[in-house]
Amino acid sequence: MDHFQYKNGVLHVEDVPLTRIAEAVGTPVYVYSRATLERHAQVFREALSGLPRVHVAFAIKANPNIAVLKVLAKQGFGADVVSGGEVARAIAAGMKPEDIVFSGVGKTRAEMEYALGVGVGQFNLELEEEGAVLGQIAASMGKTATATLRVNPDVDAGTHAKISTGKKENKFGVAIGEANGIFDRLSGTAGLSLRGLACHIGSQLFDLGPMEAAYGHVGDKVAELRAAGHVIDRVDLGGGLGVPYERDKVPPSPATYGQMVERATKGWRDGADGHPPVTLMFEPGRVIVGNAGVLLTEVIWVKPGAVNPYIIVDAAMNDLARPAMYDAWHDFEAVAPTGERMIANIAGPVCESGDTFAMGRDIDAVKAGDLAVFRTAGAYGATMASTYNSRALVPEVMVDGDRFAVVAERIKPETIIAAEHVPDFLAD
Ligand SMILES: *Cc1c(COP(=O)(O)O)cnc(C)c1O
Repeated sequence: MDHFQYKNGVLHVEDVPLTRIAEAVGTPVYVYSRATLERHAQVFREALSGLPRVHVAFAIKANPNIAVLKVLAKQGFGADVVSGGEVARAIAAGMKPEDIVFSGVGKTRAEMEYALGVGVGQFNLELEEEGAVLGQIAASMGKTATATLRVNPDVDAGTHAKISTGKKENKFGVAIGEANGIFDRLSGTAGLSLRGLACHIGSQLFDLGPMEAAYGHVGDKVAELRAAGHVIDRVDLGGGLGVPYERDKVPPSPATYGQMVERATKGWRDGADGHPPVTLMFEPGRVIVGNAGVLLTEVIWVKPGAVNPYIIVDAAMNDLARPAMYDAWHDFEAVAPTGERMIANIAGPVCESGDTFAMGRDIDAVKAGDLAVFRTAGAYGATMASTYNSRALVPEVMVDGDRFAVVAERIKPETIIAAEHVPDFLAD
């Protein structure tokens, strides 16, 4: 359930009509619902309530806006981060450093040092050398870095190739068969406490089968590592749960996912035979924020086309990259629909044919000057925005009941030009 509903024929976010936001802030603009974010966070937690030791770290890359992170911090979420910049954001939003998990295949030495300095709680290692370097840096700072090893379970998540991460040819993690050797060689490394495994096989997953298979492989590895004398007390099961971009394509619910996790981890999560219990860690991104946001846009032209008309909107691929990048679908709805329909293509103003949101789509009939939204744009939306074609960086608004606030300003081309410099050698 979300809080994007038509009232008196006008699409509202909670109690605010989108016409009001367009008037005050202009378009294009992302609009988030605080109540929806909170509800999704609660539903996710509730789904895991049958598990005794759980840590939820929101995957910041899905939506790094500080206000969004603040809402999730208030819900008790930590953060899964993939850069020093994301560490800074998590802390700026009030998340506890010890609740931050640092993932990512290319952490630099400077990022490790910064993260250790602020007290980041866990590092998910992507290769053996990274563990050695992290230990060295931590030891030189008089600290010990807590770490897990990200394993690649070689399962096909059945999602788009560009968001598939758990096959052996992907760049992420170490082959699961190599984990034993890496644990043996890294154990005893000064400054490093390697005590768990991590896996994340992909995003926008609709089939829990591959995830359950991956978790099964991870469980087998936990047993092997324990048998070899290693202490395992945390396992990071990643994120990846899908969201319904199309109304009639419904992903597994968080509750179904929670039941699967209970089943898949039963044999090893509670410890036994002298082994400590395992804290299960989760890194949801899209499922928390996807349906909590829309991209509000205005129709500039309705341009006749060879087959169908083109609806040219003022949002473009630089504001919402997913359709161009992943052939992704976003529902398009008029803010004040007349009830009439049309078959049309939807495109932005950027000079690329790829700047097309939909072809031959059955949509609310719209005309120049009408407002419309792309739904389910809260995840991997604003965070991927650029200023390509020297367009402004798209702003973000958060609604809370009957009030709203700009939570990221529109960054105008003038501001960006001011940060560029003509060198002396080009002076006239
Ligand atoms: C992207 C990512 C996530 C979040 O994925 P979602 O599909 O948005 O839930 C979690 N963990 C890692 C390591 C990631 O790279």
